[in-house]
Amino acid sequence: MTDSTDDAGLDVLAICAHPDDAELNCAGLLLKAAQQGARIGVLDLSLGEAASRGTPAIRQQEAAAASLVLGLSRRENLNLPDSQLRVNTESLQLIVSKLRHYRPRMVISSHWEDHHPDHQATGTLVKQACYLAGIGNYAADGKAHRPEQVLFYLDRLAHTPHLVQDVSDVFEQKRAAVSCYASQLYDGSDGHTTTLSTAHYLEQWQGRHQYFGSLIGVKYGEAYVLRSPVPLNRPLDLLWGRRGIV
Ligand SMILES: [Zn+2]
Repeated sequence: MTDSTDDAGLDVLAICAHPDDAELNCAGLLLKAAQQGARIGVLDLSLGEAASRGTPAIRQQEAAAASLVLGLSRRENLNLPDSQLRVNTESLQLIVSKLRHYRPRMVISSHWEDHHPDHQATGTLVKQACYLAGIGNYAADGKAHRPEQVLFYLDRLAHTPHLVQDVSDVFEQKRAAVSCYASQLYDGSDGHTTTLSTAHYLEQWQGRHQYFGSLIGVKYGEAYVLRSPVPLNRPLDLLWGRRGIV
């Protein structure tokens, strides 16, 4: 799962700041892509060692368990410094080398205006790295490769989504993957709490999925923004057999 020497490619790669970010935010899209036969993977940028709860070792065990729940083909951690992720040449070169290694057609990341500075940096790093990876002589390992599409998920960010992925039939699997991160979630104690470990967090998290789902008339949804318009060649591909939301 963490082997980075196997050069088997991926179709969809989520690049996130911390272990649990992919599970909380884009696991539904990953699972739906896997249903279509895609090879899916996650690249975590840090071990989450600066978190108020859990340890890097515990979080790695939790990430391994969650990866099994999601059926990931690959998961790797770049071990960049948690809470100090920055847009710099070193980090860009590292991410570019991984994009060239895994050669994903689709990349998912956090929005560059997210509340958490690490998520902001990750979104910007991914935007830039996906472009740079396609430049033949850019100084990073591997052969040039540029993903065809980059999606940025909306967590608690008040933005209008460009796409909502229906995740109704995989939501319980997504919830099971999130549940693997017990160290980060509410444990019944009233000690130091983070956003995730408050008693009502998972309720609000589920509510967000219900709200995004309501925008397209389904039970649960994940919301994404794109930086470029979606190319449309076959207009009828926009019809998906449901009552329209117009
Ligand atoms: Zn995070």
